[in-house]
Amino acid sequence: MGFLDILFGKKKKKTLASKDFKCPNCGKTVKLDWERCHNCGVRIKSMFRKKCPKCKAMNELNAKICKECNYDFEAEIRAAKKLQYRCPRCGYKMNCYMSKCPVCGVRFG
Ligand SMILES: [Zn+2]
Ligand SMILES: [Zn+2]
Ligand SMILES: [Zn+2]
Repeated sequence: MGFLDILFGKKKKKTLASKDFKCPNCGKTVKLDWERCHNCGVRIKSMFRKKCPKCKAMNELNAKICKECNYDFEAEIRAAKKLQYRCPRCGYKMNCYMSKCPVCGVRFG
C-alpha cells in the first residue's frame, strides 16, 4: 500500500498560505501566513488581503465570494479580463478589435 500512499500525498492540495509570495516591499520570498516580512518588516497579511468592494470586508486572497455579503469576486475578475482597445490618437475605447477608429478614422496596423 506504500505506492498508494505516495500518490495520495502528492494530490494533497497546497493552500495559498503555504505558497511563496514576493514581498511587495523588498522582493524577498515571504509566506502569506507571516504577520510581517522577515527581511524588511512590512506587514504582509494586510497587503495580500482583498477588500470587498461592496461591504469593505477583508477577505482571504483566495476567497471566491465575500464572507460577509457573498459578493462574487470572480465576476470582477471576469469583467477585468474583458479586453478593451483604445485608439492611440483620440482615446476612443472599443470593446472589440477594429481596423479603423470609428471616431477619428485613424487606421490600426
Ligand atoms: Zn520585505
Ligand atoms: Zn462583501
Ligand atoms: Zn480615434
